[in-house]
Amino acid sequence: MANLNENFLKLKKNYLFVEIGQRVKAYAAANPDKNIIRMGIGDVTLPLPAAVVAAFEKAVREQGVKETFRGYEDSGLGYDFLRDRVSDYYKAFGVSVDSSEVLISDGAKSDCGNFGDIFSPDNTVLVSDPVYPVYVDSNIMGGRTIITADSNRENGFRALPNNDIHADIIYLCSPNNPTGSVYTKDELKLWVDYANNRKSVIVFDAAYEAFISEPDLPRSIFQIDGARTCAVEICSLSKTAGFTGTRCGYTVIPKELNLYTSSNEAVNLGDTWRRRQGSKFNGVSYPVQRAAEAVFSDEGQAEVKANLDYYKTNAKIITDTLDELNVSYTGGKNSPYIWFTSKRFPDSWALFDKLLNDVSVVGTPGSGFGKNGEGWFRLTAFSTNEKTAEAMKRIRETIQL
Ligand code: PLP
Repeated sequence: MANLNENFLKLKKNYLFVEIGQRVKAYAAANPDKNIIRMGIGDVTLPLPAAVVAAFEKAVREQGVKETFRGYEDSGLGYDFLRDRVSDYYKAFGVSVDSSEVLISDGAKSDCGNFGDIFSPDNTVLVSDPVYPVYVDSNIMGGRTIITADSNRENGFRALPNNDIHADIIYLCSPNNPTGSVYTKDELKLWVDYANNRKSVIVFDAAYEAFISEPDLPRSIFQIDGARTCAVEICSLSKTAGFTGTRCGYTVIPKELNLYTSSNEAVNLGDTWRRRQGSKFNGVSYPVQRAAEAVFSDEGQAEVKANLDYYKTNAKIITDTLDELNVSYTGGKNSPYIWFTSKRFPDSWALFDKLLNDVSVVGTPGSGFGKNGEGWFRLTAFSTNEKTAEAMKRIRETIQL
């Protein structure tokens, strides 16, 4: 008899976006004439940059020619042409990352979700609440104990470590999904010290680093002294370069980072992860890696910047409206997420229904990200400029927040 991993029974039944999808579907069926504006799921609307498409096409053609065809990639960890580019990219933040420390993935979600494979089931995991659900679900599946650090209005949705509470694995996300908050260097230093003092590991999700506009805010945890002995960093090309449907990301694992056996023997974390990938992952396709390489070319970076500016315009349209309506929010400035609250709607789902039913605007109820999300609501800046402006106009004219 094949037995179930019963940890799966502990997962919440309805994934947040399934519930949203069902409510929107029912509304659309009942109101076929309404023009629904979707600002809920964090998918992008701009296509791949032209430089990326050109490189992608060229590589696909190479795959159809005997002399240039490539089968399995030897390492499965990424071609050097891409790993070198990522290493160069880090230099812009003053961070030295060796190409061999860069591991190419099919996106940040896989690595965020799979990293648990190399940690003991006995480890305690700390996530902040509200949280990007992947960190929680993957650790529930792995049977680990999960504790939460409160992110809330009082701490600007930037939870800080409590030295009286022990955690072995810490998931941090900055710029944060869902709250849009960004840790300062001093705040990240507190987490780095906390982790180093305990030989704990920080899994730092930097999927939105490119949205940071303020130069003093850290775009990489490796800008913080001590991070190389306690952190891995997971990055994505999804939101910066429109790779949500093309799939490519990268994870940086410093050489000096270790895990420990129960008898306190150090085992290299990067080697362990490579061993795991060797058994379970055959790498990202050659054309996708060539497309990703083009993201880091001068032309690619100029196009990425234009796309980011486009989404930042949306964020500004949203935050200007919220300012005008005197509504409290975080995010928007260094993040594509705007996280707001309304005294009139203390229940996130009530606000979701109000926006859907009265102005046909879809957002994401904050309560879906954890208890501290109750009463909060997430909008994304990934729609078009026109739809974002139209959604804000409808809200301004129709709803009292
Ligand atoms: N990490 C965070 C915080 C995200 O919000 C997302 C996607 O929404 C991901 C990771 C996943 O990104 P990818 O498309 O690279 O898998």
